[in-house]
Amino acid sequence: MNRIPSISFEFFPPKDTVGEAKLWETLDKLAPYGPRFVSVTYGAGGSTRERTSGIVTRIKRETGLEPAAHLTCVGATRDAVDEVARGWWNAGIRHVVALRGDSPAGSGPYAPHPSGYANAAELTAGLRRVGDFEISVGAYPESHPDSASPEADLDNLKRKLDAGATRAITQYFFDASTFLRFRDRCAAAGITAPIVPGILPVTNFKKVVEFSAACGATVPAWMAELFAGLDDDPETRQLVAASTASELCLALMAEGVQDFHFYTLNRPQLAAAICRRLGVRPELEAAA
Ligand SMILES: Cc1cc2nc3c(=O)[nH]c(=O)nc-3n(C[C@H](O)[C@H](O)[C@H](O)COP(=O)(O)OP(=O)(O)OC[C@H]3O[C@@H](n4cnc5c(N)ncnc54)[C@H](O)[C@@H]3O)c2cc1C
Repeated sequence: MNRIPSISFEFFPPKDTVGEAKLWETLDKLAPYGPRFVSVTYGAGGSTRERTSGIVTRIKRETGLEPAAHLTCVGATRDAVDEVARGWWNAGIRHVVALRGDSPAGSGPYAPHPSGYANAAELTAGLRRVGDFEISVGAYPESHPDSASPEADLDNLKRKLDAGATRAITQYFFDASTFLRFRDRCAAAGITAPIVPGILPVTNFKKVVEFSAACGATVPAWMAELFAGLDDDPETRQLVAASTASELCLALMAEGVQDFHFYTLNRPQLAAAICRRLGVRPELEAAA
């Protein structure tokens, strides 16, 4: 079964006006690919609250795209988090990606705010009380580093879905088998909600190696070989990144995967190239 997949794109809120202008250009370029939704991340410790809110409400107001706002529990009371969500609901935002978040780098293991939501399952339940949001949550094919065991991590995912989430988006991974094994384990555990693979096209291999060590994602040896010697050759890296991510998606599609969430890093070219390779064409072209 290889029908045209359904896609979504993730962006981060830029720090300055130059980055913001680039984000709107990126959104313009990717909008014709018809994403089911576009999500905007929430910076560590709620640091981007205003920027995330500004971007999702502008997407809602000025584009035909459906925005999804990421929200974390870090460093905020339940009331403060609810207030953010209520503001979004009043602005017409209907989709939230509910996450626990992480403690600031170097400050040790995660500790919830004393009056805050302790984890994403609690946040999901809280959001349900604020409005009838569509809620997506995170899932970890290689288990979250804080989890006691793969089984405990799956139980946690179930708690988030039982609390009212309707979809899980995964942490990135680089081997199709990693996702497929996880999908089987979810099915065996009775999880029926869509588990959408999060796809990260690798543009900066060094950074991905660093980040993967922290978040527990495996960087396969074949990938290190593929990117070896390309540190100073961004153009070749782009080509390798597009073909590697496309191959991963095609392997997943051959196993019946029909939804993909792309971590765009606010760059349109790679996501666009991969979409085209998967048969997702811009609307104008398809209509011509
Ligand atoms: C798709 C996606 C998007 C993301 N977007 C953002 C973003 O915008 N901003 C940001 O800061 N971070 C983001 N993250 C990162 C995320 O915040 C971290 O991975 C964080 O460490 C965990 O968040 P979570 O929502 O998965 O946590 P949770 O699901 O709450 O769980 C985290 C860990 O704690 C364990 N745990 C939770 N509750 C319990 C319990 N009651 N008992 C025992 N163990 C428990 C779980 O097993 C798991 O190991 C994103 C991650 C993903 C996958």
